[in-house]
Amino acid sequence: RGTSSFLIVANRLPVDRVGEKQWRRSPGGLVTAIAPVMQRRDGAWLGWTGAAGEELKPFDHDGMHLIPVPLSSMEVEFYYEGFSNATLWPLYHDVVAPPIYSRVLWDAYRAVNDRFARAAADAAAPGAVVWVQDYQLQLVPSMLRKLRPDVKIGFFLHIPFPPGELFMQLPWRVELLEGLLGADLVGFQRPGGASNFVRLCRKMLGVSTVKNDIQLDNGRTVRAEAYPISVDFGELDQLVRESHVMARAKEIRAELGDPEHVLLGVDRLDYTKGIRARLKAYGELFAEGRLKPGEAVFVQVATPTRERVEEYIRLRNDIELQVGRINGEYGEIGRAPITYMHQSFGREELAALYCAADVMMVTPLRDGMNLVAKEYVACRHDLRGALVLSEFAGAADELKQAYLVNPYDVDGMKRTMMAAMQAPPHELGRRMRSLRRRVATHDVDRWANEFLTALES
Ligand code: UDP
Repeated sequence: RGTSSFLIVANRLPVDRVGEKQWRRSPGGLVTAIAPVMQRRDGAWLGWTGAAGEELKPFDHDGMHLIPVPLSSMEVEFYYEGFSNATLWPLYHDVVAPPIYSRVLWDAYRAVNDRFARAAADAAAPGAVVWVQDYQLQLVPSMLRKLRPDVKIGFFLHIPFPPGELFMQLPWRVELLEGLLGADLVGFQRPGGASNFVRLCRKMLGVSTVKNDIQLDNGRTVRAEAYPISVDFGELDQLVRESHVMARAKEIRAELGDPEHVLLGVDRLDYTKGIRARLKAYGELFAEGRLKPGEAVFVQVATPTRERVEEYIRLRNDIELQVGRINGEYGEIGRAPITYMHQSFGREELAALYCAADVMMVTPLRDGMNLVAKEYVACRHDLRGALVLSEFAGAADELKQAYLVNPYDVDGMKRTMMAAMQAPPHELGRRMRSLRRRVATHDVDRWANEFLTALES
């Protein structure tokens, strides 16, 4: 197979290994969004397989051409766990944990970005469209442009782009901005991210800007724009109408002891997700007698993630201590206030959980978008259920009829949780109808199309 006229470049390939030699398409929004475009355009996807030290030849899976980019175990530690997830991740999420600034990590980040750029340059047909994804690869646009000035380059940042005051901490801030400016179009989740970026380019690089257009000295223009990512509304809406999913939702409630209120949290076990403050608020409702054992159950799904990064080990210990304390203090035999699962679930079980939950708690301290919030909305065609949503999630820009909260305000969250639990059905219906309208008309297909149309025009 020769070169491709449409390329996706992402840290990970869109497949997971099952067994020795088999692959399965990864779950998750990005893959769902892009797979149809890939198939239509006969595109290729470059990324890492997820296994350190593995070197594989390109292969086809599920109508997609996949080009593995290898990472050594040292690079996994320094580029992926290090610079990506211990430097950029906390820095871009309001420094809710202290970022690590280390030249060794930076060197690995640059080297890996260079490898991705070279692989993309080799795989791209003349005049190809190359779409680079996310914070792990911010240097790829400019590196690729140097190698292949003929291709169109788009970049999309899935996580927040921070305000200047925070971004300025980064010792390599100029290099990162210049890296992104290699693209023709830089996409962000929120308009605020785009304007943070434009302002920083003006301030740090002295380039001139007109609205969201950044004019470079060489005459090229880079556009920065918001494209809020979304979910496959139609697929989820269909799924929850199937009788086995509906039956499973009922079964879940029964297994929980048919409490009056089921609250739900579904998050990677990440310090940005606000799990601690959310559980604290919930626990205080028992301490104050506003909730009684047996009356409410909080199901917290905390999926394992980045388990070798120190900050995540600490977080897991904290949360598990907290869950144990609340259950120990306020539980009764067969009635624990919190059902905690450090596990990952498939789409059907998640959909059933969403349908079983009266109150969905999405309270990140900072989040690029938060797809869980949109998935919950897509699953509630019964127009029941309340979404409690942090103001600091990108989703809050669109989901204005959710019960919005400040996730740092424990008393405010307690009030809102009680209000959501006690809301009359017509109130829930009014809110959910409006939320569903928004997600149905702004689904993930629209996201991909709008970005690519803008890139190619
Ligand atoms: N998810 C999943 N299984 C789980 C928990 C979560 O498949 O057990 C999915 C969830 O449906 C959603 C994604 O993981 O599509 C999480 O995306 P989100 O934007 O909410 O947060 P992120 O993990 O990207 O920070």
